Amino acid sequence: MRCPLCGNVEDKVIETRTLAEGGAVRRRRECSGCGYRFTSYEKVEDKPFMVIKHDGRREPFDRDKIERGLDRAIRKRPIPMLAIERIANEVVDETYRAGSLARELSSAAIGEIVLEKLSKLDRVAYIRYASVCRRFENLDEFVEEIRKLETVGSEPPTKLARG
Ligand SMILES: [Zn+2]
Repeated sequence: MRCPLCGNVEDKVIETRTLAEGGAVRRRRECSGCGYRFTSYEKVEDKPFMVIKHDGRREPFDRDKIERGLDRAIRKRPIPMLAIERIANEVVDETYRAGSLARELSSAAIGEIVLEKLSKLDRVAYIRYASVCRRFENLDEFVEEIRKLETVGSEPPTKLARG
């Protein structure tokens, strides 16, 4: 696998996990050139996991979309990239688990999984993501969402980045 940081193609696998009842394998890899750690996925190709969109259409589940959404939410926030990668991994795992029977899940349900993760990471990122994903109808809803966060509290990002 090509290292996303330096382009080296030599790496060693440091962890392998089987996901979704054997439907996918995730590997943690370490670049032999620069030591950067990244994640790769292997999936069975003929049966894609589908996402049901707001308008009812379906499209194949795409991890990159999860990461792009997270990227936008954490922009200019003091959050390490490792924490984002970990959250993306957890969201993918939980999405496959939640939709394992039908091999599909609604984009709204996936959004809620992401929000649950962000609520423990960073309030600003959470609110940014929620405002896109839940399309708040009015200011009251928005204020209510912030109030809920006050009671949940938030963990420092460094905790999530470890390991
Ligand atoms: Zn590298």
